[in-house]
Amino acid sequence: MASFSSIQPAAAQPPSSTATSSRTSHLLSHHQHPDQLSLPSPPPSHRRLRRRPHCIRAIDAAQPYDYEAYLFNRFSQSSKLKIAVVGFGNFGQFLAKAFIRQGHTVFAHSRSNYHAVAQSLGAAFFTDPHDLCEQHPDVILICTSVISTESVLRSLPLQRLRRNTLFVDVLSVKEFPKNIFLQVLPHHFDVLCTHPMFGPESGKVTWQNLPFVFDKVRIGNEDSRVNRVETFLDIFKKEGCTMVEMSCSEHDRYAAGSQFITHTMGRILEKLQLESTPINTKGYETLLNLVENTASDSFDLYYGLFMYNKNAMEQLERLDLAFEALKTELFGHLHEALRKQLFGKSEEGGHRRPMLAKLPKNGTPLLPPQSEAVANKNN
Ligand code: NAP
Repeated sequence: MASFSSIQPAAAQPPSSTATSSRTSHLLSHHQHPDQLSLPSPPPSHRRLRRRPHCIRAIDAAQPYDYEAYLFNRFSQSSKLKIAVVGFGNFGQFLAKAFIRQGHTVFAHSRSNYHAVAQSLGAAFFTDPHDLCEQHPDVILICTSVISTESVLRSLPLQRLRRNTLFVDVLSVKEFPKNIFLQVLPHHFDVLCTHPMFGPESGKVTWQNLPFVFDKVRIGNEDSRVNRVETFLDIFKKEGCTMVEMSCSEHDRYAAGSQFITHTMGRILEKLQLESTPINTKGYETLLNLVENTASDSFDLYYGLFMYNKNAMEQLERLDLAFEALKTELFGHLHEALRKQLFGKSEEGGHRRPMLAKLPKNGTPLLPPQSEAVANKNN
């Protein structure tokens, strides 16, 4: 049995008569007491029956005001979505906070039990996906790890959803979820693939000017379906994101060269166990921040960037080559200096240059002190 722990959205109801009369008396207090209002005299037949001819009912005076409020309420409710966040971990919770802040209703579902967390955020948590789908959310937002996405999607009882439910994902790779959605979801479901290019760390304070990538993969023609996608995208626009519409394949090409490299560098630096010093340069601070930003992400996330983006392998190889090339350049300079010191001008006849056989051990000075001056002079 699933637990449903939170507040349902207030349905758009006409205001109650109690609320109406209290509001009305407030309005009237600025003018006159209802008994003091003068109205046209009733027809003669009524005159005989009524002792207080000028008495009116407050609700009559207040109706136009209340009707406006009612319409406004209905309008604002129509721009709110019921969003089911599937995968309520680090990133799912981070997004849910913004949805709730903007007045949308959030239903959450995850492998682990996040009942208490959901309750504290103002979301409803469902342990059973059947119960989740029976809420008929407008949007199913897939926030699971990349590697678990397919099994999670296949575990959802799609038959319990409304026929044209909108499926959205926020995975850090894009071609993979797009293909899975198109394989698994019946054609009457809408599909929007997205990638907020920020996370709980980098978007901690604000989402202003942070890129939000999206690809409207399959959206039905009806106005309601087109509007629903726009309402969802509006959430990110309202937070100040820079909206970038691009195809999933284009995203993956760019992301391998930027995001995957960033995460890889962050993880390499993390392995070096960098520490803050009393003389940090700005550049070094940037490296420490990079480690902080990437280390808080799960290894599943990083592995997903590698495994499910076909461009990642090439980037890893390029990184390897770049490192080798840099070392070759560095040792090439060192080698030149050493040769000049060892052989002086006698080598100028074009002898073969011996390669540097092996690197000195870490921490061992590369050059004896007396040769440093020669090396520096020759550089
Ligand atoms: P993650 O490690 O990529 O994913 C964690 C989520 O996946 C949790 O909700 C977890 O559920 C679920 N999950 C993991 N293995 C599962 C399995 N075998 N079966 C069912 N559910 C499973 O970390 P994340 O940071 O929360 O990221 C979520 C998604 O958002 C990822 O696809 C990621 O690429 C994307 N994204 C993340 C960021 C970011 O900065 N963190 C930014 C943009 C996009 P439980 O917690 O219930 O175990």
